[in-house]
Amino acid sequence: MSPPPYPDAVSTPDPAGWSRSTRVVAAGRPPRSPDAEVGPGISLSSTYVASDEPGARTYARVGNRTWEALEDALGALEGGTALSFASGMAAISAALELTPPGGVVVVPDGAYNTTLALADHLEVSGRIAVRRVSLAQTSAVVDALDGAATLWVESPTNPLLDVAEIALLCDAARDRGVLTVVDNTFATPLLQRPLELGADVVVHSVTKFLAGHSDVVLGAALTRDEGLCARLRRERTLRGGVPGPFEAWLALRGLRTLALRLERSQTSAGVLAARLAEHPAVARVRYPGLPDDPGHARACAQMDGFGAIVSIEVRGGAQAAEAVQAGTRLWTPATSLGGVESLLERRRRQPAEPATVPEELVRLSVGIEDVEDLWADLCAALTTSQG
Ligand SMILES: *Cc1c(COP(=O)(O)O)cnc(C)c1O
Repeated sequence: MSPPPYPDAVSTPDPAGWSRSTRVVAAGRPPRSPDAEVGPGISLSSTYVASDEPGARTYARVGNRTWEALEDALGALEGGTALSFASGMAAISAALELTPPGGVVVVPDGAYNTTLALADHLEVSGRIAVRRVSLAQTSAVVDALDGAATLWVESPTNPLLDVAEIALLCDAARDRGVLTVVDNTFATPLLQRPLELGADVVVHSVTKFLAGHSDVVLGAALTRDEGLCARLRRERTLRGGVPGPFEAWLALRGLRTLALRLERSQTSAGVLAARLAEHPAVARVRYPGLPDDPGHARACAQMDGFGAIVSIEVRGGAQAAEAVQAGTRLWTPATSLGGVESLLERRRRQPAEPATVPEELVRLSVGIEDVEDLWADLCAALTTSQG
């Protein structure tokens, strides 16, 4: 399975000569001066002494030092200007608001369920019109761009692990005056940089890998375009979906170990995916790192690694998949992903999950435990599930 797990990002220097695995540690620190703090504090002030300087924070719904430290770090990783939000969905809402009234948004038919639900909700209220496409089918997506305002991309998708041809789609969208937003939650900027591939805006659920400890809900939107940045910032200030300073601080603290966590989780995910593909209780494994996965070639072309999420389809349908979820002792049955602890979930348990997701699909979020313990636990549950 190539490319090798993750070291590409380690060897890619930034203009200052630092790789991204260094930037997760070094970015977003206070200026170095004698006796200065080495990390940012938690700034709890709700207001600021009046200032006539342009760009002054003024009030804590407008700006906060702890958010700004996190934003500096995220911006250094993704290669753009970052704005933090109260949740991934707050960032996604702000990005969808970039669509003009009545504008057509091209939306994947399989992606994070709440993003799809929000697009539907905005369509019902007349704010946007939704055009649904299968993201993996590049030519169908391009055909759908005519007359559209926004293209919404998620890659790899949650939970089907479909891989979109990001650069090609962004080019086609730009040619037609369509804005492209990419949800980069599954890959993180260590494995994929959509702004470099031509995306206008990147959004993240910081809740997941970036914060990494299942103890904070937070989001971010990033762009290189000053005008778009100002509009996203205005959405945040007007709607008030701002992060709490403590949440921003926790996320930055979690981010410091992203390279280590991801390297470990991703290596284990590769091992587990290969073994699961041979397991008699598993009908299908979805993981772009597997050489016969439909997204493998695309992932090799645009990613520095395949990530730490694996989806499996369990033989015996929904009931057997439920038994797998109920049968583990180490893996925790829970929604969400990207934390240090391994989680699994039969996605169709959620009423909002789109019908494109098979009933028997179980999503695995591989954590940093010992891979042999993870395998033994999963194997036992799979065997039991077959009755
Ligand atoms: C979890 C998730 C979101 C939503 O983020 P929240 O922080 O839960 O609001 C968006 N996109 C993807 C791909 C996700 O996995």
